[in-house]
Amino acid sequence: MSTKIEILNSIENIKQEIISFLQEFIQAASPNPPGDTTAAAKVISKLLEKYEMPFRWVAPQKTMPNIIGSINGVSSGRHLILNGHIDVFPVSEEGWITPPWSGEIIENKIYGRGSTDMKCGTSASIWTYIILNKFKSEFSGKLTLTCVSDEETFGPWGSRWLMDNEPEVLGDCCLNGEPSSPYTIRYGEKGLLWLTFKIQTEGSHGAYTHLSKSATLVATDLIQELKSLEFLDAEVPSSLLEAQKKSAAAFDQGMGIGAAVIAPRVTLNIGKISGGLKNNMVPSECSFEADIRLPVGCNLDKILQSIEKITKKFPEVSMEQNMLNPPSHCDPDGDMMDILRSNVKDLKGFQPEPVVSLGGTDARLWRYKNIPAYVYGPTPTGMGSANEHVPINDYLHIVRTHALSAYDYLMK
Ligand SMILES: [Zn+2]
Repeated sequence: MSTKIEILNSIENIKQEIISFLQEFIQAASPNPPGDTTAAAKVISKLLEKYEMPFRWVAPQKTMPNIIGSINGVSSGRHLILNGHIDVFPVSEEGWITPPWSGEIIENKIYGRGSTDMKCGTSASIWTYIILNKFKSEFSGKLTLTCVSDEETFGPWGSRWLMDNEPEVLGDCCLNGEPSSPYTIRYGEKGLLWLTFKIQTEGSHGAYTHLSKSATLVATDLIQELKSLEFLDAEVPSSLLEAQKKSAAAFDQGMGIGAAVIAPRVTLNIGKISGGLKNNMVPSECSFEADIRLPVGCNLDKILQSIEKITKKFPEVSMEQNMLNPPSHCDPDGDMMDILRSNVKDLKGFQPEPVVSLGGTDARLWRYKNIPAYVYGPTPTGMGSANEHVPINDYLHIVRTHALSAYDYLMK
């Protein structure tokens, strides 16, 4: 019997335990903020202990532990990192058909906050680590599991801390199970730039509009100008545009119609705005926050200069940068991409398409260090909203794909 069939049989034999683990993992609530992941990390520890897997807790911030463990093959070789986060979005109880931390199964779907983002994917990493341990006498190289906290708020205590302080997490490739949809594999992600704009004018009585500019109207003029960034030529290299064009249909299928159009463009969202005191006063103050997403491969300097040029047209405006995560990508035709595509083809009969991600993940941190990082996970149903759930079959498919692909990567 081939080892890959044996791996699939091993998963089949403990299928019920794999399913119950995800339920228990969801029940150990880990919303961020506030980001306390202790209970959920204990659920992982308990499982790793049961299977006598090597691991340790690394907790630079006490309530946000990270779990790292490694196993070695028979000889030296490539080093694969499995990465997933333990924290999840916070939750509002409204609109759920089950309590949000229940992990309940309804019609073969597991419900609960974090089921898709990303306790399904993190579970796939954990099971891959456990299952491949049985076959380590067959592969070479090293497999490292990293389950991290503090991802949802781009916080400093998870992957970012590990990258700087734990060289064990820097391998030759990273595999991550953030939601992607079974039909797509992500090799890159857009960047983000968060800015706060403040507008200050003299203000006056609401009938005396000749005496002062209105801070709220200056804000709306500025926002209209910033909107022009969406049509800026971001100078994305043609090879990347070509790759994105090829996968446009699959991308729209996974992320909703229109996703492929905005992927290679700058987008602008004004997430928050406030200004003025009273209806019959010309406001002297207004502030708003802009969430600007940067396409993969873009000329970041050009975009920053354009923003500065627009802002300078408004002497009443000051601007502050709150966050800048540049976009990241690795080779859309890389080795792990081929491995993932071929395993999904064998398992499901279709080949997922290489795409970039609109949102951000920790995978970018590996790419920033020139380590290729690929994301393959479930469809993001209900991500960040009510009734987040993952079909059991999709969950098991992600586990199988990750286990087989990690094995293939370490066999080469
Ligand atoms: Zn996530």
